[in-house]
Amino acid sequence: MRILVTGGAGFVGSHLCDALLAEGHTVVCADNLLTGSRNNIAHLAREPHFEFREQDVCRPFDVGKLDYIFHFASPASPVDYLEHAIETLQVGSLGTMNCLELAKIHGAKFLLASTSECYGDPLEHPQKETYWGHVNPIGPRSVYDEAKRFAEAVTMAYHRYHKVDTHIVRIFNTYGPRLQLNDGRVISNFMKQALAGEELTVYGDGSQTRSFCYVSDEVAGILALAKSEEHEPTNIGNPGEFTILQCAKVVLEVTGSQSRIRNEPLPQDDPKQRRPDIAKARRLLGWEPKIDLRTGLTMSLDYFREAVKASGAGA
Ligand code: NAD
Ligand code: UDP
Repeated sequence: MRILVTGGAGFVGSHLCDALLAEGHTVVCADNLLTGSRNNIAHLAREPHFEFREQDVCRPFDVGKLDYIFHFASPASPVDYLEHAIETLQVGSLGTMNCLELAKIHGAKFLLASTSECYGDPLEHPQKETYWGHVNPIGPRSVYDEAKRFAEAVTMAYHRYHKVDTHIVRIFNTYGPRLQLNDGRVISNFMKQALAGEELTVYGDGSQTRSFCYVSDEVAGILALAKSEEHEPTNIGNPGEFTILQCAKVVLEVTGSQSRIRNEPLPQDDPKQRRPDIAKARRLLGWEPKIDLRTGLTMSLDYFREAVKASGAGA
């Protein structure tokens, strides 16, 4: 197949490009490098079935005949989407509609990278796909949450009204090599701080929870969903749940760091708990994650060590 990956120079998108190329497909990666990096795709420079286009997907564009579109373009880290608030709303709305139009024109299948953030600060725990969420529509995080909720709505509309073959994955916190060192997410912050001998910044008292999925598990789930007949949102994440304080302790163990923990204020509307119910993915796709947090962090160590060295942090 000839496949477009938007956001393909980002963290998850670049791993997706690798997996699609490994399956023998031709991949066109469209990315405006807002939060991504050429470094993430540098190893593909001489790959004949890979093409990079520097492109803002909020502007109308066409890359020729396509069989599948994976729409991953969007800032994803809270620090990034708060800095690029309007761009985040644009790529979730205009960017998603442009990509759906392309899918309609070329008769291509379409998969939207959505998010557990659609559940907001959830009152139902763990989160099933049937839960409609608890989102502050005007809070600081709304630029991301509501953009993604709109993206899901317009994807379902193109499916219902234009018969586009669409899929929606709700991705839960994912980590691994190529997570940008300075994107402010908890795993990148803690790994950087631990390896640079800095204090680990735990926001609030660290009792809020997250569930962390290693990137190869996440990509395997996304590919299984892409090949399925399922059109409604499907959670892909790791149900192992950790408080942020526990997560800090795992990072200290894996890195062997002596860093101390420092508490900082909790950001507004920070979800108190998050864990995917993956019964649907297990049943429909026969998928479940294989790599637990300790193992995944150990597998990411070399990448973070190199990234910390290159950044000069802790030197
Ligand atoms: P990332 O920031 O590393 O990657 C996003 C990519 O999109 C970047 O390369 C960026 O330059 C690109 N981009 C942004 N706006 C664009 C535009 N207008 N035109 C073209 N490219 C644009 O983030 P990520 O973690 O790889 O996330 C990828 C996708 O997965 C996002 O849609 C995100 O919402 C979703 N997601 C990720 C997670 C996670 O834990 N990583 C969780 C939930 C959802
Ligand atoms: N967090 C933290 N210290 C950090 C970065 C994040 O305690 O240096 C917390 C944050 O408040 C949230 C959780 O870790 O409760 C996950 O944050 P992240 O930004 O990775 O993603 P989110 O799940 O909030 O989108």
